[in-house]
Amino acid sequence: MSITKPETTVLKNYIGGQWVASSGTETLEVPNPATGEVLARVPISTKEDVDQAVQAAKKAFATWKDVPVPKRARIMFSFHHLLNQHHEELAELVVQENGKAYKEAYGEIQRGIECVEFAAGAPTLLMGESLSNIAEEIDSEMFRYPLGVVAGITPFNFPMMVPLWMFPLAIVCGNTFVLKPSERTPILANKLAELFTEAGVPPGVLNVVHGAHEVVNALIDHEDIRAISFVGSQPVAKYVYERTAAQGKRVQALSGAKNHHIVMPDADVETAVQHVISSAFGSAGQRCMACSAVVIVGENETFVRRLKQKADELIIGNGIDPEVLLTPVIRQSHREKVLGYIQKGIEEGAVLLRDGRKEMDDRPEGNFLGPTIFDYVTPDMTIAKEEIFAPVLSLLRANDLDEALSYIRKSRYGNGATIYTKDAKAVRKFREEADAGMLGINVGVPATMAFFPFSGWKDSFYGDLHVNGKDGVNFYTRKKMITSRFDF
Ligand code: NAD
Repeated sequence: MSITKPETTVLKNYIGGQWVASSGTETLEVPNPATGEVLARVPISTKEDVDQAVQAAKKAFATWKDVPVPKRARIMFSFHHLLNQHHEELAELVVQENGKAYKEAYGEIQRGIECVEFAAGAPTLLMGESLSNIAEEIDSEMFRYPLGVVAGITPFNFPMMVPLWMFPLAIVCGNTFVLKPSERTPILANKLAELFTEAGVPPGVLNVVHGAHEVVNALIDHEDIRAISFVGSQPVAKYVYERTAAQGKRVQALSGAKNHHIVMPDADVETAVQHVISSAFGSAGQRCMACSAVVIVGENETFVRRLKQKADELIIGNGIDPEVLLTPVIRQSHREKVLGYIQKGIEEGAVLLRDGRKEMDDRPEGNFLGPTIFDYVTPDMTIAKEEIFAPVLSLLRANDLDEALSYIRKSRYGNGATIYTKDAKAVRKFREEADAGMLGINVGVPATMAFFPFSGWKDSFYGDLHVNGKDGVNFYTRKKMITSRFDF
């Protein structure tokens, strides 16, 4: 895909099957995080733009809800085909606007495609239940129905996968959809709308409105929006959850994270180092499943030494270069915030084992930060408690597994956690006691696939039904029970 010229290109909203200019006057630059090149400008849309999109979605719902389920599923098959055809191009686009490495972007597209595969199973997923003879000559049946117009609000770090967690499943369930992508990675959303249209979805079924918090508020408050799916940072997730739930609407809000990896004394050091390095520094640490704290059980100086060596060997640069693993963070302003955390770590007494700030000036055109590792971090330090969302890793020390698990329990977040060990008893104890929704046993990024729920705990998730899997189907449908009497 050719990205249209900088400065001149203000992205359009996609409403009712048309590319429509936003009525807002403000726009923001969308720079490539590695080069600073302005790829496009994104409009800050208004309440009026949201209303236009919701009206288009409402109109489309009137007919879309009655489109036979197998026919809806066939559109998913076509979309799946198109996504596969455009896999490389989409990955390049993710690299350009998000900054992550090509291989990770390619993997992200694959995870998104798997969500479409899951949605294509709609005829099975949407099946109801029935029981004859609940009483003499009386039968009961359950049918699933869509909710109506639903909205999705997405973050910058998975510009492809997170929208695909939402709209294919919502739409195949019979809903119509308004997507508000991150204003920092808006280009891919338009490409997805383009491909979805090519797959045969009727106008108004999927709409895209660009912008920031005004759009989010307008979506939550719109009387015709029935449910909100949100993914983003913790304060915003909580805010979106509370504002939506207060209006009696269905809401799922996936939030921030602080994922602990426990390295047991018997762990294979090379495997653990390799997984921690790619989990902590891949995507520049900007993953909700990234390892951000390693808990070393017992003395394990070999692990620490090898970790530092491997971090020193990481190739930093533009993600389009296949050799590169460590890519820039999303914006200069985010890097400034991260530098504040590094300073705080030093002030609170953690030992700066590797200072990534020294690599910052090697490529002044991008938002680069080298791999940064703090050792002897304690659970009460700011860098141990807060999500930094950058290539900054904390090493904590614990005497035994109980103490390591207590650190996980203490964390306000509970998205993921991993243990590196060959000890079956330790694995079982970890599985039973680790206070997080997605666990890895010798797995660095234990993110679930589309047929399972993506399942954070504590302040990593607000709501009841998670995204994907059966939870996703339940979130995007409501049930109707029919009881029939035949003894006339
Ligand atoms: P963000 O919270 O800044 O933005 C997410 C969305 O919320 C964007 O569309 C943005 O426009 C909107 N938004 C931002 N501020 C708002 C406000 N004040 N009011 C209303 N809407 C607002 O998040 P981000 O920086 O784009 O993404 C990174 C965060 O997302 C991290 O915290 C990460 O852990 C989290 N995340 C979580 C998961 C998960 O599954 N739990 C997955 C991906 C990302």
